[in-house]
Amino acid sequence: MQPFRPYPPGTKIGLTTTIPVEAVLAAGLTPVDLNNLFISSPKALSRVSAAETAGFPRTVCAWVKGIYATLQDHPEIEAVIVACQGDCSYTQALGEILEAESRQVIHFKFPYPPDRGQMGQELESLLERLGTTARDAVRVQEQLEPLRRDLRRLDRFTWETGQVRGEENFSYLISSSDFESNPEAYARKVEDFLEQAEKRPHRSSLVRLGLVGIPPIFTDLWAYLEELGAAVVFNEIPRQFSMPYPGLDLAEQYLRYTYPYDIFTRLGDLEEAVKERRLDGLVHYTQSFCFRQMFDQIIRERLGVPVLTIEGDRPTRLDSRTRMRLEAFVDVLRP
Ligand code: SF4
Repeated sequence: MQPFRPYPPGTKIGLTTTIPVEAVLAAGLTPVDLNNLFISSPKALSRVSAAETAGFPRTVCAWVKGIYATLQDHPEIEAVIVACQGDCSYTQALGEILEAESRQVIHFKFPYPPDRGQMGQELESLLERLGTTARDAVRVQEQLEPLRRDLRRLDRFTWETGQVRGEENFSYLISSSDFESNPEAYARKVEDFLEQAEKRPHRSSLVRLGLVGIPPIFTDLWAYLEELGAAVVFNEIPRQFSMPYPGLDLAEQYLRYTYPYDIFTRLGDLEEAVKERRLDGLVHYTQSFCFRQMFDQIIRERLGVPVLTIEGDRPTRLDSRTRMRLEAFVDVLRP
């Protein structure tokens, strides 16, 4: 028997963070990463203010305010999948506000601590809610494998040969949360980009950096680091969004994904990156009013490389104080 399909094919479904996107695609729906929609808009900054005018406090993370205001301009997004565990309490509250405004909200919980049985149940209820089956989701997972393989290759071009710049790496990997709402077109775009990138000469940089923490809200961070002669050869969370571990079933894939779980799993991933990618230092990006700022100390203590912590609030260019601190950091690392 075919499952009941609550949404017509192609319906846009908003995502507040990376969730098992295979379920959305298996249901024939169109995923839209609301973070990317917010930050790529020329109205990003004014949307944060618009959310404050609508009643959101100043002391709430700008990503949440940006998502809220972005949704006001996108009534065609029929429903929103909210990670009500594994992301943060702000997004949980955002889901409730959206529900109060009659937006359909679908909850997804990343089990904490990671647990295979619970992940299986969460996946099952998401698939059922979207009107699809595990078999269809597995088929989508298989179809996505060549694209995910290309993303791994793109990442290697960043840290092994320097043929892909840090900003390009960030931009492609961050988009793997929703594949720019069109996996086929996005896969072709990645393929074309790789074809170009492999023709570029190999490039090495005197200072190799890793960018740790949630995706920065600054618009010119990578360009400025390049200007200083430093290359970002590791973008922690965008790489996680690309699901870089092949050969896992769907439940394992989303259990191995480090972002929603404890800091210790993240530290393991970071330690490996520091070693394998020969990182000279890490820039830890923290978002104003985000609980993840609390992990700064442990990241500084455990990784054995210099760490510079920077903080951003609104979607703007780097402020002069942060620019100066980045410059001094790169100077110290330069051999
Ligand atoms: S940056 Fe932090 S507070 Fe803001 S949405 Fe992400 S996890 Fe939540």
